[in-house]
Amino acid sequence: MLSSNEANTKVGVVYRVVCDNPGCNHTFELHIGPENSRVLGQTIACPRCGRGGGSLKPQGKIRDKYFSAKLVFRGPATDFAPSDDELNFYPSS
Ligand SMILES: [Zn+2]
Repeated sequence: MLSSNEANTKVGVVYRVVCDNPGCNHTFELHIGPENSRVLGQTIACPRCGRGGGSLKPQGKIRDKYFSAKLVFRGPATDFAPSDDELNFYPSS
């Protein structure tokens, strides 16, 4: 029996990626082929807000060779979102 698993990894797939950077939420398609499959293990930058260091978190399969994913960022995001202290500063009414 042929290893269909291995064959599948050599065929390009498309990730529909949603940027998780607060205020961005840009959706873009990321084509993953044999030549760039390593981006799945690396961090990439959002093409819209330009924030780097995002890693892909697969969210599930949409259809054949088409997947949903989130671009999530690690570490402090104080340049992009208010901190907890700042949130508490606003009146709740
Ligand atoms: Zn973005």
